[in-house]
Amino acid sequence: MAKRRIEALGPLRGKRVLVRVDFNVPLREGAGGAMTVGDDHRLLMSLPTIRRLRDAGARVLLGSHLGRPSGGKVEPEFSMKPVAERLSTLLGAPVRFVADLVGAEAQAAAAALQDGEVLLLENLRFDKGEKKGAEEFGRALAALAEVYVNDAFGVSHRGDASVTVPPRLLPAAAGDLVATELERLAPLRDGSAPRPYVVVMGGGKLADKIPVLEALVPKVDAVLIGGGMSYTFLKAKGEEIGRSRHEPELLDTARKIMERAGDKLALPIDHVVATSPDDPTGYAVVERLPQDRMALDVGPRTIADYCRRLTGARTVFWNGPLGVFEKKPFNLGTDYVASFLGYSGGIHTVVGGGDSAAAARELGIDERMGWVSTGGGASLEFVQGEALPGIEALPDA
Ligand code: AMP
Repeated sequence: MAKRRIEALGPLRGKRVLVRVDFNVPLREGAGGAMTVGDDHRLLMSLPTIRRLRDAGARVLLGSHLGRPSGGKVEPEFSMKPVAERLSTLLGAPVRFVADLVGAEAQAAAAALQDGEVLLLENLRFDKGEKKGAEEFGRALAALAEVYVNDAFGVSHRGDASVTVPPRLLPAAAGDLVATELERLAPLRDGSAPRPYVVVMGGGKLADKIPVLEALVPKVDAVLIGGGMSYTFLKAKGEEIGRSRHEPELLDTARKIMERAGDKLALPIDHVVATSPDDPTGYAVVERLPQDRMALDVGPRTIADYCRRLTGARTVFWNGPLGVFEKKPFNLGTDYVASFLGYSGGIHTVVGGGDSAAAARELGIDERMGWVSTGGGASLEFVQGEALPGIEALPDA
């Protein structure tokens, strides 16, 4: 069911609108020692919602978390202040900042907002109630505003107070980013995406990907496996995997998934091995894994095989790197397959956030993908058919 959008909220002029955004950005030390935003991608992704609300004359209150403060107190290294400064540059308008969440200072700042003005609250996780999903904290946040908008897809799979409580108390809607995420991900979840529909699944741990594999295998035409999770499958098939990472407790599960998937499931047919990710000694491409090496990437024959299997696909869901992509030369499997997806006309690729999104952006091909999700965990949970608390809390369209 589609969720209510901003345009269905009626006139917003003069109304205080609380927008939950995901401005969990990396900070770094800038000139003169002051902290600055290291990567403003997440800010850019919510600009359409913020601009739209300003244009409608709303008084915009933004709230986000940043990093993992211990909670319950102010920790200056996690302050949102540098974010307010960068957002102001991107918007071309002042962004007020208040070093408070729901206290007297925040209430006064919210009350003083004029039509079209923007205020950013301090890091929501400075209050212990945020992560706990505390009703009281959520109520206090809602009391700052008259309308609520969720534009934080990346945290909507969590039960945090700012995404679950205010939408039950105020007229609420999905922001443009959340609405786009739902629109792009729903066909992948429902299996209604144009076929052939192929899943490329990588990453370190099979445990994290079992629910999504179980949900998608019946709905898709092929599943191409890479990354550390490959070796639990290969071990389950009785192959020698050397010192490769694997999950012994999941061998049975891996066997069952392979049985159910049959020919749909493809595994690496060659590998890049070394003694460790930090020490490429003995670095080699092999088809049979030696006992004293670990597999750290898929090899060139696998890359060619996967690109061949992806040829002619109309929809691809890609989640997780095919090797230890953070460390050269183990990035090549991920980079080649990602580039193939980015440069192949006719394939609509949806990248499932997290590491895969980072890899696509690093390669400069994110713009060539059909959609790059802003939520790693959230996109995975949504596609595997789970109800996301922050989305459930929003009214239907
Ligand atoms: P995940 O968080 O499950 O998506 O896994 C991402 C991590 O998996 C990345 O940090 C990769 O370095 C790691 N990874 C990918 N391939 C392998 C592999 N063959 N062996 C060990 N780790 C891997």
